[in-house]
Amino acid sequence: AEAAGRDPSGVRLLAVSKTVDADAVRAAYDAGQRDFAENRVPELADKAEALPPECVWHLIGHLQRNKARSALAHAAWVHSVDSAALIERLEAIAAEDGRLPTILLQVNLSGEATKSGVGAAAAPALLRAALACPHLRCRGLMTMAPYAAPEETLRAVFGGLRRLRDRLQDDTGAALRELSMGMSGDFDIAIAEGATVVRI
Ligand SMILES: *Cc1c(COP(=O)(O)O)cnc(C)c1O
Repeated sequence: AEAAGRDPSGVRLLAVSKTVDADAVRAAYDAGQRDFAENRVPELADKAEALPPECVWHLIGHLQRNKARSALAHAAWVHSVDSAALIERLEAIAAEDGRLPTILLQVNLSGEATKSGVGAAAAPALLRAALACPHLRCRGLMTMAPYAAPEETLRAVFGGLRRLRDRLQDDTGAALRELSMGMSGDFDIAIAEGATVVRI
């Protein structure tokens, strides 16, 4: 963040725990880490139940509607919201269960068919659907860049997400401060392009 001329407090480190067991998560917790992420709901539930309630859990993998209730029981944030149908389901459950989850809209700017998320053209309609939901706090966008891509490609994807966010904010007046982008191999470039959450 300092290299990019940014205030480090504006970048949240999300510890992705999907490949490690609860004891390893506990070691990170003991070292002061609080934000943890899983990409599958059953593992999210297991680890969230094994760790102290001060942990803030994030779901970063594709969410099926039939797992939405379990996801919201454990995750304060869902980064992978990618359809109006899922938004409708999350809103209904959040209302029933008295929750106010933070959600991010997952956008696929790399065009890779293997990645989930909506294209840039579909993002405005998805955002309008999210902003109409009183129990969902839609705070920004998430993306995944192509793996081990050249720096120009990564800059185009991360910068593209930031510019899309800027346009969506201008068009709707919504405060979309979060940009969840950057993983272990490319977080420096993501931070230079404005990431507020890096998934490591
Ligand atoms: C696994 C995963 C990460 C972390 O990947 P690393 O390359 O190990 O940092 C980040 N985001 C998502 C969506 C993931 O599934």
